[in-house]
Amino acid sequence: MDERIQKEVAAWLAFYRELGIDGFYRRPPGSASVLPPAVNARGEGDDRAEIASEPALATQQPRAQVSPPLQTMNPEPPIPSRAARIPTPESRAPSPEPRPSVALPGASSRVMSLFDAPSPPRPEHETLEEIRADLGDCHRCKLAGGRKTIVFGEGNPHAGVMFIGEGPGADEDEQGRPFVGRAGQLLNRMLQLVGIKREDVYIANVVKCRPPGNRAPERDEVEACSPFLYRQIETIKPRLICCLGAPAVKTILGAKEGILKIRGQLFDYGGTKVMPTVHPAYVLRNPRDEKLLREDFEKICDFLKTR
Ligand code: URA
Repeated sequence: MDERIQKEVAAWLAFYRELGIDGFYRRPPGSASVLPPAVNARGEGDDRAEIASEPALATQQPRAQVSPPLQTMNPEPPIPSRAARIPTPESRAPSPEPRPSVALPGASSRVMSLFDAPSPPRPEHETLEEIRADLGDCHRCKLAGGRKTIVFGEGNPHAGVMFIGEGPGADEDEQGRPFVGRAGQLLNRMLQLVGIKREDVYIANVVKCRPPGNRAPERDEVEACSPFLYRQIETIKPRLICCLGAPAVKTILGAKEGILKIRGQLFDYGGTKVMPTVHPAYVLRNPRDEKLLREDFEKICDFLKTR
């Protein structure tokens, strides 16, 4: 690329960074121009306890739109059309790359551009091990500073259903495994109730490092981490993704609707069905709503049996 264009690009990047906009990724050639939906923290003390009155999933405008459910499993009205379109796999950002270093026009140091250090091409069919290796000893976001262990995810790499939670808590951070604390025990019980073995499913989270004090992951953290989740989904190719709680729904569907409104319905994520349900931690705080989780797990079981 000619030096003048490089400088121009660098100047634009510097400008955007001054505005607080950063985290630029190269898209693979030919991919769509829509970035994955971003998620903001809900600003609540405890992220894993969506309260019944929680009116919406996101305060931030998602960058994609949700399509109406392709097929709903209950007679609830479809998601309004203002909801977000589900990102297609092609529209997801590629592997996070180091932030480009930029210089203001006129600066004497050498100007680096986004295009100076292309990341190595990823194999078309990468394995979970390859994705884990690419993640490495991740320091792509500030959560790295407070974590003990990266909780990559676990389960059957060919799972029919993949569960996506919000982020590791203290127990998960300690053990390096998702959903091993109290919420995990409830998840296990739900799986058992409907006759699904935990080892047959895959379990991951929106972010792979524990947010301090179990707060909700912040937008920049989700943006740094979610490309790895998208790659895990692409590799596992589950028939169904079950989003446990609002942050997972926001990340996968970009949906703004309240979880209690859309739970139990089926949506589409680039050809894969997605069912939002309440987070087990919400049920721990609102035990009377355990029936909601149970009902949705029964639907998951029916889905796996019949499709
Ligand atoms: N809550 C989550 O969202 N994920 C876990 O792994 C554990 C608790």
